[in-house]
Amino acid sequence: MTAAATAPAPAARVRLPVLPGDAAVIDRAEPAPHQLIDGFARRVTYLRVSLTDRCNYRCTYCMPDDGSHEVTPHEDVASASELGAIIAAFAATGVTRVRLTGGEPTLRRDLPDIVARVVAIPGITDVALSTNGERLLELAGPLRRAGLHRLNISIDTLDPVRFRAITRRGNLARVLAGTELCSSLGFRAIKLNAVALRGFNHDELPALTSWAWERGITPRFIEQMPMAGGRLFVPGEFLPAAEVRAILAAGLGAPGEQLQILRADDDPGSHRGGGPARYYLLPSRNDDTRVGIISPVTESFCDDCNRVRIDSAGRMHACLAFDDAVDLRSAVQAGTNAEDLGRAIAHALGDKRRGHEFTTLGCGAPKKAMIATGG
Ligand code: SAM
Ligand code: SF4
Repeated sequence: MTAAATAPAPAARVRLPVLPGDAAVIDRAEPAPHQLIDGFARRVTYLRVSLTDRCNYRCTYCMPDDGSHEVTPHEDVASASELGAIIAAFAATGVTRVRLTGGEPTLRRDLPDIVARVVAIPGITDVALSTNGERLLELAGPLRRAGLHRLNISIDTLDPVRFRAITRRGNLARVLAGTELCSSLGFRAIKLNAVALRGFNHDELPALTSWAWERGITPRFIEQMPMAGGRLFVPGEFLPAAEVRAILAAGLGAPGEQLQILRADDDPGSHRGGGPARYYLLPSRNDDTRVGIISPVTESFCDDCNRVRIDSAGRMHACLAFDDAVDLRSAVQAGTNAEDLGRAIAHALGDKRRGHEFTTLGCGAPKKAMIATGG
């Protein structure tokens, strides 16, 4: 186990005008939150919270369809208020961003309540949701009213037959209609996530990109990760990021053009979006369209990792790619105060590894399936 720490943050320097119109400034030290820093000097600012490990889909790369996926019994699932207490403890350590995920988070009837609670936690400045989109027609309005601005919607294909095959349950028409509804309701940022798979959707990556761009949505393509002990991973389907870029450039760019990575200076704050995606553009296009690529396997981003995960039972997973988890819900149930909860979190961060051990052959995977922690 590697030592992790909460260290006092350096005092923020705030420029204050002395008198209205006066150019002189004074420096003021702001109260500094404690920071969560792992054993490799990476600062944790981002929390992914799985609200359930159940799903109305059975995506082939995410979960088995043979009943072998064990779900958390209802009585062991963290309640909205327990999750709120856990997230508030993270906020006190300097976490500012939260993503609600699953399983399928829209299966939780209290989802709008959870969103409203998380939005209200002091220090949390960004709340987002990952969903398969099947229930957005019913939920887009309530989620927007609860204060949600950002959505990632998973759409691996625009072909209804392929969609049914990859999700084993899904209704593409509902997902597309739900996505369009969200666009019209003024969500600030919608992203389309697709796992890129050779022999399944490699020929559709440009069409998915165009579909998203036409609606002001940012498309992102994800390399498949070998979760669930590699059981769901078919090496022949693995499509590396370099090939995804080549397919997109050939399908959408001028002859011979290549995707160009967005530098931080071109696009402050969204070059990496504070997350794992690297964003690219096509220089020949004079609009501001961009495409994200998430390449955990061939272009690992573990050195920049800024996140930890909470599963639906309130356990903290320091890494997606390893099975260690520490129970925080019991501490909340026992009435542990926020400071001690912060200490438990810092201790659990000691399990965070330097990097994953995924390989393109499907080895190096944790036992847990993606559905357990939500990606
Ligand atoms: N149900 C929601 C959804 O599908 O967006 C949220 C949970 S899902 C686990 C989160 C993301 O993980 C989705 O974009 C999904 O495509 C992706 N995902 C699932 N299994 C994956 C795998 N083995 N490799 C890469 N991405 C995966
Ligand atoms: Fe469900 Fe999302 Fe996993 Fe598909 S990727 S099975 S929608 S949790």
